[in-house]
Amino acid sequence: MPRPIICRRVWFQPGVTYFKPAGIRITGLNEVVLTMGEFEAIRLKDFEVIDQEKAAKKMNISQPTFHRLILSARKKIADALVNGKAIRIEGGNYKMVQQPIQPGMGRGIGRGRGMGGGRGRMGGPFAAGPGGMCKCTRCDYEEPQIRGQPCMSKKCPKCGAPMVRG
Ligand SMILES: [Zn+2]
Repeated sequence: MPRPIICRRVWFQPGVTYFKPAGIRITGLNEVVLTMGEFEAIRLKDFEVIDQEKAAKKMNISQPTFHRLILSARKKIADALVNGKAIRIEGGNYKMVQQPIQPGMGRGIGRGRGMGGGRGRMGGPFAAGPGGMCKCTRCDYEEPQIRGQPCMSKKCPKCGAPMVRG
């Protein structure tokens, strides 16, 4: 069994791990299973369009092995497209990082890919604006304004009337 691969890209976790054709009942017989290795090979070669040589290096496997992964992945995907099968992406030989998925735990991935995190200042996204309050136009409810969320885009949680900055 191959060692777990120590390369940050390998830890890419697909956001969606199940694809199902519309209007087809999936029984388990019409389902193909892509291993993480196959998924990663497709991602590197066909999505990021990286040379096979470099892609194999990234995955810490030989080129023939990489080639085999690509071929079997494409075969499965083609099978799913042609025959209307579902695709499940599964673990294969990989060990994914053993991390419970919790709010805030995804930071390593998000930051590495430039998606999460870096928004806002020290106070975090929920810090109130400078002295800003949002007031209900009907009742007396008010709450601190959340940075980046104009009061006018909110509704009073008590009575449902529009809010204004006040
Ligand atoms: Zn109100």
